[in-house]
Order: sequence, then C-alpha cells, then structure tokens
Amino acid sequence: MKPTHTKPKFSSFAFSAEIANAIKDAGFEHPTAIQAQAMPAVLSGKDVLARADTGSGKTAAFVLPLLSNLSNKSLYGNSGLESRLSNTERAHGNTVQILILVPTRELAIQIGDVFAQFAKDIRPPIKCQSVFGGVKINPQMMALRGGADVLIATPGRLLDLIAQNAIKFNRLKVLVIDEVDRLMKGDFEEEIKQIRQHLPNKRQNLMFTATFPDSIRTIVRQIMRSPTIIDIDNANNNKKIGQRVITVNHNKKNALLASLLNENDWSQVLIFCSAKRTCDHLVRKLERHSIKAVATHGNKKQSERSQALSDFKSGTTRILIATDVAARGIDIGDLPCIINYDLPRSPNDYIHRIGRTGRAGQEGLAISLIAHHEYPHFKVIERHNDLDLEWEQVTGFEADKVAPPPPTSTSPKKLKKAKNKKKPSKKKRLAAKSADGEKIQQQESDKENSSAANTNVWGNSD
Ligand code: AMP
Repeated sequence: MKPTHTKPKFSSFAFSAEIANAIKDAGFEHPTAIQAQAMPAVLSGKDVLARADTGSGKTAAFVLPLLSNLSNKSLYGNSGLESRLSNTERAHGNTVQILILVPTRELAIQIGDVFAQFAKDIRPPIKCQSVFGGVKINPQMMALRGGADVLIATPGRLLDLIAQNAIKFNRLKVLVIDEVDRLMKGDFEEEIKQIRQHLPNKRQNLMFTATFPDSIRTIVRQIMRSPTIIDIDNANNNKKIGQRVITVNHNKKNALLASLLNENDWSQVLIFCSAKRTCDHLVRKLERHSIKAVATHGNKKQSERSQALSDFKSGTTRILIATDVAARGIDIGDLPCIINYDLPRSPNDYIHRIGRTGRAGQEGLAISLIAHHEYPHFKVIERHNDLDLEWEQVTGFEADKVAPPPPTSTSPKKLKKAKNKKKPSKKKRLAAKSADGEKIQQQESDKENSSAANTNVWGNSD
C-alpha cells in the first residue's frame, strides 16, 4: 500500500478556542515539523531537547503548548507542582511560573511579542514580561511586584533582579533555555549555573537550539530528566538558503559590497560585522557610495537598538549592519539576503547568521565576502558545518593570488614615525613569522572558536 503523507493539523492538539483563534489570525495553517514533534511532548509535561533549523518555527513550538498548559489544572499538579493560579489568585507576589532564558535583549523582546500574539484572547490575561540589561532596573522590579506568568530574561539582568529579591521561584513550573548552545558556554554558562541554584528541582525543562555542538551535551544531560530528544534534519532547509562565497582583496571589500547592494534589487539586506567599530565605520563607507544604512550593536543605547530593529522589521530601513547581537533567533519576515562582511567567530554562528534569511520555508541568499586573511577561517567554517561551497570572484573585484599589503597611513607624522622605527633583528623577524604560522594552524584545528584571521584587521581600507 502506498504511504499517505498527510500534513499534521493544529486541531489535533486540542488547543482552547482562544489559542486556536490566535493561530488562525497568525495565518498558520499547519504545524511545522518541529512544532508537530515538540508540541505533544511539551503538552504532556515532559522535558524536551530539540534541535531544528533557524526559522523553522521553534518559538511557537514551545509558546503554544506552554500557553495551553498554563490553564491545564492537572498537568503540573501531577509532577508535584501547582497548576496555574486561579482567576482570583493570579500571578502575584513576585512569583514566576515559566522562565525563558535567551542570550540577547532583541530575542527577549521578540519572544515576549510572540507570547502576547498567541495569548491575546486568553482570560484572565496571561501576564508576560521581558527583562534585559541596558535599561533601568527599577521599572522591571516594579512590574515584577505583581508576579508574572511568563518571564523572558537575559541571564545577567535576571541575576541582578534575583540579587534585589525581585523574583520568587517557588511557583516555577517550567524552565525554557532558547539558543541553548550559546547559553551553555563562555560567561553565560557560569550565569546559568548560578540561576539554576535558585530554581526548584521539580520543573519541566525545555531546550531549543539550531546547532548542538558536542561540548554542551554533558551539561544538558545534567539538567534534563529523560528528555524527549528531537532532531529535525536540516537537509531541505539548507537548500533553501543559497550560499555564495566571494573572494576579494581586503582593500576592495567596501567597493564590492557597495556594488552588490547597488546592482541587486534586494528589498532588504542584513550585513554582519564582527566588531562594533566596523559596523559604524561601514555605515560611513557606504554613505560615500550614496548607500544609506543603519548600524546596531552592543555599544548602542537600548532604545537605539530597538528602534534599528523595529525599523528593519517594518521595512523602513533597507540595510541594517549588525554584530552578532542580530545573529540569533531574530525573525525578520521576507529577508532576501544576508551578507557576511567579515566572518563570525564560531562556525556555529555562521549557521545562525545565514538563518536570518530563508525563514519559514522561504528562499534566501547568504553571501560571505572573504579576503586572503579570512581564507583559513572560512575553511574551518566549511569543515565544521559540512559544507563544500564554490568560491567565486566578481568581475572587476577579483582577488589577487597574493594578499595586497595592509594599508599604510598617509599622515606625514605617522609616516615619519614609521620611518624612524628600528627594524627588528632577523632573529625576531623569524620568530614572529613562525608564531603566525602556528596561529593559523591553531585556527584551523579549533573548530569551535575563532581566530585572529576572523577579526577585521584590514577591513577599514577602501
Ligand atoms: P521561528 O523559527 O520561531 O523564529 O519562526 C520563524 C518564522 O516562521 C516566524 O515568522 C513565524 O511566524 C513563522 N511560523 C512559525 N510557525 C509557523 C507555521 N506553523 N506556519 C507558518 N509560519 C510559521
């Protein structure tokens, strides 16, 4: 008998009329693969560890069943936790029921918006709050006085709020860690460890990620209790994002970028740079080519960051230049193209960056502009992500066989200073050369981390 491939239906999850209406209003006809697999497990109160592509609908995969569970009187009661507070006993006294941890402020705001979107008709209203650094803590403390059904937080600000006694976790039922690969390494890992000490042991744990490096497996297993593990194959989605790699001399990168932006009629483009300074610098460089762009990064005020992102999401801004603050989770509908002006530190972040385009099954294009000093690091990115991309040249901007020399200062003062500088001895020169060689080898072998090859050492020239 021929197998029948019927699409899963939202109606099979028995969501309340309020949630079903909101799903309809969002225009969602069928659950995506991650939603179809994760929602039953989340609804049943189980721990879930899920890996699926960027843009595959992960947010709704936990938002919808959690909203449903909040009003399910028996569900969390079975695991020794109270069900949602009744109409009269709404979230109160600084308590939180669902805690969602995310790595960036932008993502905290965005997930808050998705909760609000799907909870709009639920009565009594679901109280959902996002907290993050870069803004005053007092209004957040005041807002938490009445408690929250759902709290979405970046780890640093959450620890500040805990230190101020602004949150009680005794009623906590669920911990969600989104972008878990990012939150389980570096500074974040220590912060998550501290946060966990404040949480009750009996809780549901949900973890979502697009990339799942081996390095975090142990810690994830320590936190979760017999999780349902979901791994959605990304083969199909990768095909939807075209990936171009263009080699170019470092001193022609800006001109090539301007040419690409002028010659193609992309409605919007998100350009990634690794350094905050490079973002600002690039805005000015593009201005010289009569191209208007806006920069966003960690040195900007929170109000500027929010404005830059909302203008980009609404289509008011055509070109946004960002550091990796915009690489994770941020959902920009119909974004046709992202450009890596320089390469991300971690090979995993390459996947997150390109995942800002080609979302929800649409097609997208990711272009990486690589100069000679970035070749080794791009090879690491390819190897790590099992990619074998064709490296191309663009007519008029072809990369030379050998890298052109780094830019020299034209300021007479600096030239004089350089002239007077004593040449290092032959011994020192040889030592420096071998150290560079070692560095490149180390970069190539270091799959997870970055390199000096990754920093935009020469990107300032034009
Ligand atoms: P996410 O991966 O959660 O950021 O979602 C990526 C995009 O897919 C967002 O714009 C969602 O609104 C959209 N989306 C999520 N679930 C569905 C669905 N079942 N049907 C259509 N679009 C969806």
